[in-house]
Amino acid sequence: MHVPAAVIRPRLEVLAQAPVPTKHGVFEMSVFHWGEPETAHGLSPDHVAMVLGEVRGKHGVLVRVHSECLTSEVFGSLKCDCRDQLEAAQAEIGRRGQGIVLYLRQEGRGIGLTNKIRAYQLQSNGHDTVDANRLLGLPDDARDYGAAAAMLKQLGVASIRLITNNPDKVNALRALGIAVDRRTPSLVGHNPFSAPYLEAKRIRMGHSLPSIAASEANPAPRAEAAAKPVSSLPPHPDLPPVQPEG
Ligand SMILES: [Zn+2]
Repeated sequence: MHVPAAVIRPRLEVLAQAPVPTKHGVFEMSVFHWGEPETAHGLSPDHVAMVLGEVRGKHGVLVRVHSECLTSEVFGSLKCDCRDQLEAAQAEIGRRGQGIVLYLRQEGRGIGLTNKIRAYQLQSNGHDTVDANRLLGLPDDARDYGAAAAMLKQLGVASIRLITNNPDKVNALRALGIAVDRRTPSLVGHNPFSAPYLEAKRIRMGHSLPSIAASEANPAPRAEAAAKPVSSLPPHPDLPPVQPEG
């Protein structure tokens, strides 16, 4: 009987594995390839599991399923709380000596870096994160947790406690066959630049977050208002001047 290769080939592959010392402990880092037939917007199909301690066969393993956020995690952008949430989850797992951080390469809630920065442009004009995505014809949240569920199954956890404020993430993982014992909140506070985003997540996306006073959550943060458009900066001596787009 002929069986198509796509059916017999596993969708999840472990590509590489090594211990990585971090300030929160020595995690075993695994790179997984999740065999999406195609990826859009430059998203990578290679995802990461950072595992601390023995998790196979264990119940109630503390897990953070975290989606990539280059702007905050690499450049320290204050527009969101992703970096703080990642750091807090890894620190808590380090304190307990057991747990998993899954790092999924779905930048910008799955719309990719370019679209995310296009949405930021719209947000700088006063639209919130949901409206900005919709103006671009993009979903509010395009994330997919199929890779996360497959990775957790491969790691052999019996059940998890999920560190998240997003009830949809709990439901999505349960629907994919992951036993989620309960949700553990991830509360890392806010700043003047992240407050509008966190309020939009709370009010429009149903995240379980404390409300922020309207005076704090009002858009038009100072740095964005003060930032000069690129075309008004003096040209670099070795580069042609930036032409404003019509
Ligand atoms: Zn972020």
